[in-house]
Amino acid sequence: MVTISDIRAARTRIDRAVHRTPLLHSKTLSGMSGFDVFLKAENLQKAGAFKARGASNKVFGLSERERSSGVVAASSGNHGQAVAYAAARVGARAIIVMPVDAQRAKVEAAKCYGAEVVFCGTTATERLERAEEISRETGMTLVHPYDDPDVIAGQGTAALEIIEDLPDVDAVVAPIGGGGLISGTAVAVKESRPGVKVIGVEPATSNCMGVSIDRGERTRITTSTVADGLRSNEPGVLPFAIVRKYVDSLVLVSEDEIVDAMLLIMERMKLLVEPSGAVSVAAVLAGRLPSGVRRVAAIISGGNVDLQRVAELIVSRRA
Ligand SMILES: *Cc1c(COP(=O)(O)O)cnc(C)c1O
Repeated sequence: MVTISDIRAARTRIDRAVHRTPLLHSKTLSGMSGFDVFLKAENLQKAGAFKARGASNKVFGLSERERSSGVVAASSGNHGQAVAYAAARVGARAIIVMPVDAQRAKVEAAKCYGAEVVFCGTTATERLERAEEISRETGMTLVHPYDDPDVIAGQGTAALEIIEDLPDVDAVVAPIGGGGLISGTAVAVKESRPGVKVIGVEPATSNCMGVSIDRGERTRITTSTVADGLRSNEPGVLPFAIVRKYVDSLVLVSEDEIVDAMLLIMERMKLLVEPSGAVSVAAVLAGRLPSGVRRVAAIISGGNVDLQRVAELIVSRRA
């Protein structure tokens, strides 16, 4: 399991490698939603998403020997960049396994940090199997994007900052993919301020955590959503257990709600946010929070999106 002391230790370990991102109040979003809305701007984090926190905590915690063997990760996006970033900080070799149809910008970003990119298949399963194979053959440590206690502890550091910056917050809202971010958030919040609500948000068309919690066991589903960071088919083992223990409610948002929230954040907050990063705000705007909640902190989880893609999404909504 992961405890609040693991998250506090993570904070000390990654302190100089990641930003303490701002918690921004939004008058516009507060007026529109009826809540008092604050945004945790992890789109401004190193490598463009909260994942730099978990990856740094994992990589910096490796032994001298493990570091000298290097790290390997399977990712089509933010986790790959985060692992490449963290490895570069300590001079470790990194291999990132990406799909053959990966966006050029993401491949270039990983290479920019000095990582080697290996292409394999088009599905997450194919990528993970290849990464595991590389790990077995070379002794490089596999860094899982969410099913790892050190990664989860690192992700939890964002919520520690929220609690410090806004001690009288009523609820913290975070998106769910495989469940690493919500797990770290839940442990940080519930083991320091048990009265504060923790709300997880999934796209209605990619809700493996909600389905698993309803059925009482980890369940594999097929997914399709505009939020490319949330296309997990099955929650992690550790995240499933932590969500079951600590998360107050799981809510769903539609594809249109995600895109509208994304465009609104760009226009009104002047923040470049990716679709996955807008999901928490979409839930707040839709009013899908437990009763009694007034002051809300929504985690804007990332900002890595091509402007070409933003243009397509604008056209799709305004057409
Ligand atoms: C990875 C990611 C998520 C989902 O995080 P999990 O830990 O997999 O639940 C959400 N938003 C962004 C921007 C991400 O990169």
